[in-house]
Amino acid sequence: MVFDPQQFPGTGQWHGRAPYSFLASVFSMVSSISARTVMLNIMCNMLRVIIVHSPQDILPAIWLCSNAIAPSFEGLELGIGPQILSKALRGVSSVNQTKLRKLYERYGDWGDVAFAAKASVRTIVKPKPLTVREVFQTLHAIAGVKGKGGVDTKAGLVRRLLLSAVGEEVRFIVRTLVAHLRIGAVRTTVLIALARACVFMQSDVGQWPISGDLVRQVDDSKDVLATKLKQAENGLKECFAQCPDWNLIVPWLMECKDVSRVFERCGITVGVPLRPMLGQITRDLTDMFIKLKDRDFACEYKYDGQRAQIHMDNQGRVKLFSRHLEDMTDKYPDIVEVLPRIRSEGTTSFIMDGEIVAMNSEGEIQPFQTLSNRARKNVTLDTIVVPVCVLAFDLMYLNNESLLQLSFRERRTLLKERFVRVKHRFDFVKSMDATGITTDQDKVQAFFKASIGSGGEGIMVKLLDHPPKSLEPSARAKGLLSTYEPDKRVESWLKVKKDYVEGVGDSLDLVPIGAWYGSGRKAGWYSPILLACYNPENETLESVCKCMSGFSDKFYKEMKDYYSEENLRVLNTPRHDYVTDLQPNVWFDACQVWEIKGADITVSPVHKGAIGRIEEDRGLSLRFPRFIRVRDDKPTEEATTSELLATLYLQQQVREVAEEENEEEQEEQDD
Ligand code: ATP
Repeated sequence: MVFDPQQFPGTGQWHGRAPYSFLASVFSMVSSISARTVMLNIMCNMLRVIIVHSPQDILPAIWLCSNAIAPSFEGLELGIGPQILSKALRGVSSVNQTKLRKLYERYGDWGDVAFAAKASVRTIVKPKPLTVREVFQTLHAIAGVKGKGGVDTKAGLVRRLLLSAVGEEVRFIVRTLVAHLRIGAVRTTVLIALARACVFMQSDVGQWPISGDLVRQVDDSKDVLATKLKQAENGLKECFAQCPDWNLIVPWLMECKDVSRVFERCGITVGVPLRPMLGQITRDLTDMFIKLKDRDFACEYKYDGQRAQIHMDNQGRVKLFSRHLEDMTDKYPDIVEVLPRIRSEGTTSFIMDGEIVAMNSEGEIQPFQTLSNRARKNVTLDTIVVPVCVLAFDLMYLNNESLLQLSFRERRTLLKERFVRVKHRFDFVKSMDATGITTDQDKVQAFFKASIGSGGEGIMVKLLDHPPKSLEPSARAKGLLSTYEPDKRVESWLKVKKDYVEGVGDSLDLVPIGAWYGSGRKAGWYSPILLACYNPENETLESVCKCMSGFSDKFYKEMKDYYSEENLRVLNTPRHDYVTDLQPNVWFDACQVWEIKGADITVSPVHKGAIGRIEEDRGLSLRFPRFIRVRDDKPTEEATTSELLATLYLQQQVREVAEEENEEEQEEQDD
């Protein structure tokens, strides 16, 4: 409240270029803080200082805080692995490969390794201070390096950065290079900090008569200011969900200086993927009926394929984006080819949501495994061996207009009116409409079974309409809307999966963190594997189970090559962020997510999943875990969280109690 960015010390020497040391010192400060409000204040004030003294650096600073250098759909990868890093580090310090490996085993973090390696280096000539812009531009140059000799060129660029970097700068440059900043400030923190900085911007960049009480400066009472901040945060979050690209949002915010105007230029845009709406987990069909009570809903087959957000502009140019907003247009030239034919007359531009599934020549949907055999790179129409079909389920934009606020029923009507099927190439998801009345419950049950029978994962249940107009205004305001909600997991979309019937409610996405040496038939391989869930609050990985089933021999071999000492993915000591009581023979560097199914979740004496959430000093573990597949599309930060694990455990408890009660009731009736 009393922070005055005009008066921030040292800015006189900036000469319009924010030093990288400023950012690094903020990162260092923030990484040692666990109180979110303090972290937010520091981040917000840091952005305010940059806006006032070096506005051109605000965009690169936002990217660097977000642990990225460009939106994911631009496909700009730094591509820095252990090989390049160790080469560069050996070039700027006296440590050799063996010492580097020892340091890595000790710290388990490349930033800390670099910091330690460079700490002993004494330079006679003081290097020119690094600026935020220079670091950002060099990172872009690194990402642009392609082809033969790329490793040396990249290592050269990294070396140059590290030569100029001092102290904490070294740690955070390297953490940025490996895309693991570890400052505990994730996307939402950056969003909120920027929204707040924008609220202060008008008074910040104006003339400050004296440093001091901001509340007085903006002439607002504390309550008014708090409301303004909240509105700005919500507005920016909503905007970023629709248009997740700082390159579009930040320059416009700096121009208009008003978050409430952000949608004037940065809403849903063809060519920019919006963050997808997600389904909430339900225990079973009964739970779903309770949640949607008297409302009308659509049940749809839940296909096991790959989600695709399809964009077409007025000129017929097409883009396909994955669930994680990566551009996958080049992977599916066959879909690009068919899309111009799916438009009915009068349809020009659109954005739609759908699932890509593998389909054979008889029009039968093939399992996910078949789809995953499709080539990812250099796909041309004549090399395709796994044909696919798009099954559309939503329409978010049509003929230059956003449809996000329409009800699902309206969006679905437009989807079916404005697009046409193309045999085995484009269709709509199979669906049926229902309400919570008893006769419909049987129909839904049959529909669910039919979906599973045809290879589906279960059903998606979607609310069709907004709350009825006949409701009292207050009840209506509380009712669930059926809008398309980018980046949200709301109850208007529910998923009911077959696993709910078979065992644990949902499969878990876990991170391999260690392994034992296999014996007998598995000698020479790793078995079992220690797996962990992710706790985003303190960025730790908490062990959940030891998995030894579901692996093929081929996979065992691949795993041995993937987790090897040569590529530094095997460590002798656990990383600082691993939480477990177990002592596997080797530790893995956390770099993959595996989908795992199990029987049920229990309180464990040795595992640490969700520790402190259910019991103070005991964690949760998954019983009878079975490997399903590697989730290449998920980074470790998107693994199942401790919070979700605890929720699944509680849901299971509720279900067990209900089942016991049912059984008792049945017994009483039988008696
Ligand atoms: P989540 O996306 O919920 O985080 P996840 O990636 O593991 O989890 P699932 O739990 O399998 O995905 O459920 C959601 C996914 O189901 C969607 O992202 C989409 O790819 C897929 N899907 C298949 N059929 C449908 C459908 N009819 N409507 C919506 N999504 C569907």
